[in-house]
Amino acid sequence: MVEIKQIRATEILDSRGNPTLMTRVTLSDGTIGIAKVPSGASTGEHEAVELRDGGKRFGGKGVQKAVGNVNDVIATELASADPLSQSDIDATLLKLDPSTGKSQLGANAILSVSMATAVAASAHLGLELFQYLSTRVLGRKLKYLQPVPMSNVINGGTHAGNDLAIQEFMILPIGASDILESIRCLSEVYQTLGKRMIKKYGRMAKHVGDEGGFCGFGLKNTRVAFEEILGAIEAAGYSPGSDVVLGMDAAASEFYHDGSYTIDGKSVNAGELLDFYIDLEKTFPLETVEDPFDENAFDDFAEYTKKTKIQVVTDDLTVSNPEIVSRAIAEGAGNALLLKVNQIGSVTEAIEAAMVANKAEWPVVVSHRSGETSDTFIADLAVALSTGQLKTGGPARSDRVAKYNRLIEIHHLLNGECSYPGKDFMTAWRRF
Ligand code: PEP
Ligand code: MG
Repeated sequence: MVEIKQIRATEILDSRGNPTLMTRVTLSDGTIGIAKVPSGASTGEHEAVELRDGGKRFGGKGVQKAVGNVNDVIATELASADPLSQSDIDATLLKLDPSTGKSQLGANAILSVSMATAVAASAHLGLELFQYLSTRVLGRKLKYLQPVPMSNVINGGTHAGNDLAIQEFMILPIGASDILESIRCLSEVYQTLGKRMIKKYGRMAKHVGDEGGFCGFGLKNTRVAFEEILGAIEAAGYSPGSDVVLGMDAAASEFYHDGSYTIDGKSVNAGELLDFYIDLEKTFPLETVEDPFDENAFDDFAEYTKKTKIQVVTDDLTVSNPEIVSRAIAEGAGNALLLKVNQIGSVTEAIEAAMVANKAEWPVVVSHRSGETSDTFIADLAVALSTGQLKTGGPARSDRVAKYNRLIEIHHLLNGECSYPGKDFMTAWRRF
């Protein structure tokens, strides 16, 4: 029987140049699995805890303690464990750190081992990671759904230094017939947008933010940003509304203070912000809005969800935590879940959060973090879970592009035998 032989973590850098963990799990037959952990900027208050060293080194952001916890505590406990039982591995990890938010060992330490073990197990079995997660961890039959990418082509909020309060302005290529056409479409729109922005706002406008989207220099407000994107969609030869629709992550906690939201040069209350969103939906082909209100505003999420027909995605509100997801579902606060594995800190719990959402007929959007690495685990996870949606940034910079390239690779590995949901991106998961 194959066993875990060695677990070694190392401190590496993420896409913002801050430390994070890379962990290598080696099995008794010599196969290895490597995982690199991402890190957020607009983090939810109730997310699992990234253990950081404090002090002067790396401005306090070092992860040597988390690395030590992997190499000493976790490696000792998991020596000779069965890597093929992901739920047992994760249960052992949770037992080792029963604290709220995995603050003792660090969710970054725990997640790195959880992910790397899954990668090693898939390599041992000669399976691709998405196949392993789908067939062995989820127990599904072989039938795969590629996700519609939610691609953030203009960055705002804490991810860029501009006047835009809204954090992410996204395009979804729903008119494509497969993932190859979809990625081609988003690349063409992105390149066209960049050229048009330079013409109008100068070269600064083509600089990129944390998630590979343009930094939005010169764009004064939400509507102007969406208008620029619509112009680029048309100029690239696509039709807004049928080929490409729009999405946004407001990440509203970041512009909320003392009961009001500061957006587009105004200070508004929750009711006024809700009216603003409804108005945007009437003007633009906007089909998905994430975190429209503060991370504790369950009632405002519920009010908006009642009044709108579009997808209302919960991120900071639910932080991929199965218990909080259940609360949001019970209160009608949102109608879709954003799933970030590092918000909860283990593969098993992330899958559980997705299952809780799907059981309540909520679609799931697997997501990157603003601080990423070359790790492509989330592309495989989206395919394995058949979510039909993946949010992974603009088609630029290796940390973002790596995920798109992995989807392309998966398409070819399956000889194209995988569905692309197109306009059914919110509902296709039900058939898989
Ligand atoms: C998000 O808010 O959805 C996001 C990806 O940003 P961050 O990783 O900074 O939370
Ligand atoms: Mg978000």
